[in-house]
Parts: sequence; structure tokens; C-alpha cells
Amino acid sequence: MTARHTAISAIAAHRVAKTQDYLEHAGADIYGQYVFHEGAQRQYLAKPIFEKLRRTIDGHEPFDPAIVDAVAHGVKEWAMAHGATHYTHWFVPMTGSTAEKHDSFLNPTGDGQTIAEFSGKNLVQGEPDASSFPSGGIRATFEARGYTAWDVTSPIFLQVEPNGVTLTIPTAYVSFTGEALDYKIPLLRSQEALGRQALRVLRWFGNTTASRVFTNIGPEQEYFLVDRRLAEQRPDLVLTGRTLFGAPSPKGQELEDQYFGSIRERILAFMMDLDRELWRVGVPAKTRHNEVAPGQFEMAPVFEATSVGSDHNMLVLSTMRRLAPQHGLMLLIHEKPFAGINGSGKHNNWSMATNDGENLLDPGNDPHANAQFLAFLIAIIRAVNEHADILRASIADAGQDHRLGANEAPPAIMSIFLGSQLEDVIAQIEQGAASASKRGGDVELGVTSLPVLPKDATDRNRTSPFAFTGNKFEFRAVGSSAPIYWPQTVLNTVVADSLSRLADDLDKLDAGDFEGLTTILSAIVKANKQVLFEGNGYSEAWHAEAERRGLPNNPTTVDALPALTTPKAKDVFSRLGVLSERELTARADIQWDRYIKVGEIEASCAIDIARSMVLPAVVTYLGRLMAASSASRGINAICERVAGLADSLVDAIDTLEHAQHTAHEASSVQAEARAVVTEVIPAQAALRVVVDELETLVDDELWPLPKYRELLFQY
Ligand code: ADP
Ligand code: MG
Repeated sequence: MTARHTAISAIAAHRVAKTQDYLEHAGADIYGQYVFHEGAQRQYLAKPIFEKLRRTIDGHEPFDPAIVDAVAHGVKEWAMAHGATHYTHWFVPMTGSTAEKHDSFLNPTGDGQTIAEFSGKNLVQGEPDASSFPSGGIRATFEARGYTAWDVTSPIFLQVEPNGVTLTIPTAYVSFTGEALDYKIPLLRSQEALGRQALRVLRWFGNTTASRVFTNIGPEQEYFLVDRRLAEQRPDLVLTGRTLFGAPSPKGQELEDQYFGSIRERILAFMMDLDRELWRVGVPAKTRHNEVAPGQFEMAPVFEATSVGSDHNMLVLSTMRRLAPQHGLMLLIHEKPFAGINGSGKHNNWSMATNDGENLLDPGNDPHANAQFLAFLIAIIRAVNEHADILRASIADAGQDHRLGANEAPPAIMSIFLGSQLEDVIAQIEQGAASASKRGGDVELGVTSLPVLPKDATDRNRTSPFAFTGNKFEFRAVGSSAPIYWPQTVLNTVVADSLSRLADDLDKLDAGDFEGLTTILSAIVKANKQVLFEGNGYSEAWHAEAERRGLPNNPTTVDALPALTTPKAKDVFSRLGVLSERELTARADIQWDRYIKVGEIEASCAIDIARSMVLPAVVTYLGRLMAASSASRGINAICERVAGLADSLVDAIDTLEHAQHTAHEASSVQAEARAVVTEVIPAQAALRVVVDELETLVDDELWPLPKYRELLFQY
């Protein structure tokens, strides 16, 4: 028996274990159990300290350094009451994964005893020796100094493991020179930029009560689960998160029997465990279901403020990663783990809201509210049209190149779906100012120049990368493995840019001059309507049409990344105070570098598997065929075919190796990345064709890699 077959027998005997005491503790009992939430703050902090901290968390006051020692003491008492011995500053360096270094509270007192210490300074500032994080040239290795700073807006939580508890403080990460070295700081800056500009627009509409505008996100997270005993026999899954080889399973997703199907016991056990662990750390996990592809699933939380929601999405991923092995499963978060079936995205639902709870993307019930809604909507249309290239770049990644534009995910062309009714409203506004006949500037009359909004104005369109869904946008093009901070930062920034210009124009209008407003909005629609598309984004016709409209179409990461460093991009990020030119360039450089490294790792892994696993199996099988071929004309034919494929296999491995060398010799990072696209990836694809064909011919007993039909259906 091969290791594959042994694993399959073991899977058949797998019994689902209970990991949660759900009868003892209902969901409401455990929700936020490991979070230093408002209730815990009230309990562990003196009242004036508590009240001051709350005002900072709610965005009304800057952080007061006078209270940090008192807050730190309360945090420590709370954490130790839950068994914590260590604390860590948790941050998101530009690797895109979270980072943490743990320090214990214990300090020796010199008499063989220890005391627990955690000062205000420990809470608010850390200094990881972080020379090994990518800085995109912001810092040389010898300039290692970087600081983590407590992000008060994101709740402190506990990481609870079987052998101990770690107090975890979400932080932002800056260099000695004050430049952002992480994904958090730009997100917070973009949030502020958007908030400032949105408030200006709101004031024109007579809103005097809102003091803050922020964005909310609800990221729907798609993922695959495969049995760990099978997956670990595949070096490609272990190292690259996707299958570099694999003939299609005879049955894939064509019967459409997986989507929303009843959830297998073993998967549901994982999901239930996941939900409860997420609730404990305050992540509002809400929805769980089977996705389209076999072995594919989704979870969605209730939406939250963007910075918290982004941190929480990292917690969703890390919790999934931690729990999957406990259920004998391997989590695949790659955008395209399997060829030929759907890949995974992170549909990112996004809206803007005021601190008094008004969703600015909610059409509203009266004409006045509608005018305001349309102003925000049209500003977003302009943002996406003018900065489609930057938005596309914000979701670019090697994994995405396998997903975007395949017939399952939005194309690499950015467009907006509004739904036919709302699109019609926008079309009326385009004509609006001219056709409206009205007198005077009073609100009621003025607003009649704007069309009436239909209720429930949108259908759904899953082929659109950026779709309006009733009271929010769904940025569907984000990849499943992406840290969500960066696409959010870009989206907030480009919308802030458009809102700032709208606010500039409104500043010149009298309050309540809705005729003037309509003229402004109409001009914006005229100049930007090419980004609106209601049809099938998967179709060839759309690609042609988009080209005619002059919309950017950047199919690969290498096509997309240059948009980050154009004068236009540098201008918008620096003007709005989100990223300096150096900070922006650093991020682009890191992405280029990462793209090359991923290509390199995948090619090396493919060569390794082909040469040391596939080729030996082919040789063994060929020997057997040759021994039998004189006995049968049919066997002889198969023997010749396998022998031919064996030659092709050896050649294809050499070609891929050669392509790798060619790429290395490129004169610049950009040229090397381009060579990955033009040389390495095609050579690897050609190797795959040979290996996949051999998989269908070689004796199943000899085949070393667990097959698609096993990975996708046996768990
Ligand atoms: P769908 O039918 O597309 O799955 P849902 O209503 O289930 O839509 O929402 C999907 C995600 O969108 C959830 O995470 C939800 O919390 C989030 N969401 C709902 N309303 C908003 C909003 N106003 N802003 C941001 N996200 C939202
Ligand atoms: Mg959705």
C-alpha cells in the first residue's frame, strides 16, 4: 500500500471529536471572554481612567500619556486573572502576516523570587529588533530600530493555548524615522483622510451632529479544507499552498451540489469550533456555509469598523490555521489551490458611516437623504474610475494571477455594478441639470431635480469586481489570502480624494443649492460613467468593450504593479497624508520582490516533485510496461506513449530550470518579474501538462501524489 492509500484508509476510520463544551457555555457566555472589552475595562480601571480611555477609543480625544501606567496595571491584572504570563505587541509588517514576540511579566527580585511587572511603557511602546522584516529600502539592515505603538482603537485580547496565555496588544509599527513599516498605519491614516473629507460633504448637506465618519467592512472569507494526512504528502501544498500538479477529478463542481449543501460532520465540527474560538476573541463570526467548489467553504463576520475588522480578519485566518490540524485538516487559503475549479476570494463589503450611526451608502427615505446618498455614490464612481489602476494593483499578488479573470472571479478590469435601477437613476442625473425645471433654492423644490430612488435598487452580479449591494459596496476582487489592510487603504484613499474634490466644489455653492449640486454631479457622471458596467464581466465581449472604453486591463501582477508608482499615485497618497512617496515606493518594491520569490519557490518545488517523485514512478511503471509490451499490441502502444511522455517530462524539467536561470539574469527586479511571467510560468505550465497526463496513465499504486479526487472528496 502506498502512503496515499494508507491515508485514505485512516480517513475512512476518522471519528469527529467534540472540542467545545457548548452545553455548559452558550455562545453569549463566551463572547468576548478573551477581550479587554468595555466591561473588563470598567471592572479593572478606576472610573476617571476608564472614562478617559473610552473617549480615546471612541475617537474623541487623543491618547493621554498620564493614564498609561494606570491602564497598564489594569490590563495586567485582567490578563493575569485569566492565566497570562506573557505579553506581546502584535503587528502586521509588510510581509502581510502578523508578527509577535513574547515577553514574560516575570522579573527576578534578587532573592530567588519574582514579581510580575507590566509598565505603561510596556503597553504603549515596543521595540522589536526588526531588521529582518522587509522595509522596501526604508531602512538598511544596520538601522534596525523600529517601534510598535499601541493602537487603542483595536481591542487588546488574549491568545489562549493549551499550555498558557499571552496578552496580545494590537500595535502599529513605525521606523526610527517615523515612517510606516506596516499595513496598519496607512490604513488608519486613510481612514482619517476619508473621514475628514466625508464630513466636509456632510456639512454641506446640513449635518451638524456627526463628528466622525469612518468605514465599515465585512469580509467574507473563502477557504478550502483538505485532509491533512493526504495534503502533507504533497510538497506543493505544504510549501506553496496550492497544487502545482494534478489531473482533474472525474467529478468536480459541475453538478453544483456543493454550494450551500449540507455540511459534512467533520467540517461542521471545525466550523463550530472556529465560531466559538472567534467569539471568545471578540470576532463576530456570523455566517458559515459550503462554497461552490468541492472542499471549499466560507465564513463571514458581522461588519465592523475597518481597522478592527481588518485585525479581526487576521485573527480569523490565524484561528483557522490553528484549529485545522486539530481536526486533522489542512487549511488552504491560497487564491487558487486547485486548477479547474473555483478559487477563493475575500469579498469585502464596505460602507461609510457616521459616528451617530448613519450609513452614508443607504439610499434613505426622503429626497434630502437621497441627494446626499447620490453625492457619495457618484464620488465613489469617480474614485473607482480615476484610480482603477491603483485599486487593481492593491489586490495584485501571484496567487491572484491564477484567479482573476478565470471564469469564476471578477476580471482584472475594474468596473462598478450598480444594478439596473440605480444605473438608470445615474443616467438621469447625467441629463439631470438640463432637464430639471425648477424655481428657487429651497430644499424641497431643489431636490426634485434629482430622480426618485427605487427601493431595493440592486440585483446581484457576481461577475463584477466592485458591486453595489443595497447599502454597501462589495469589493469582490480581493484575494482570499490577502491581508485586507492594503486594499482598504487604497479604497479609502481614492474615495477620500474624490470626496475632497466634491467638497471643494460644494464649498463654492450656497447650502441648499440643489440645482448647483445636480450640475456638479452630472458633470462627474459624464466624465466617469465608462466605469459602470451591468453585464457579464466574465465575457469576452466585456474585454473588448472595456478596451473600447479605455478602461485599464492589467491581467497579471506584473502588469498591475506599475500603477503604484505613477506620479498620479504618488500624488494622491501623499496629498491625502496616507503614504509619503518613499513609503509608497517601499510597498511597491516589496510586492515586486515577493512576486519573484513566489515564482521562484513554485518553480523549484515543481522541479523537485517532478524529478524526485514523478519521474521515479514513471520509470518503475515504464519498466513494467516494457516487460509486458511484447505480449500485447495495446500494451505496446501504451508503453510507447508513456516512454514519449517520459522524454517530455525530462525535457520539460530542463526547460523550466533553464527558464529560472534566464529570469535570474534579468537586469532589474521588474525585468525579472516580467521573465517569471513570460518564461518561468509558461515552462511550469508545460511541465504540468506532461505530469498531469502521466497521472492518468501510471499505475494508481505507484502514483506518489494524492490526487484531486482524493483531496477534494475524501475528508
Ligand atoms: P451577502 O448576501 O452578499 O452575503 P450579507 O448581508 O450576508 O450579504 O453581508 C455580507 C457581509 O457584508 C457581512 O459580513 C455583513 O456583515 C457585511 N455588511 C452588511 N452591511 C454592511 C455595511 N453597511 N457595511 C459593511 N459591511 C456590511
Ligand atoms: Mg456577498
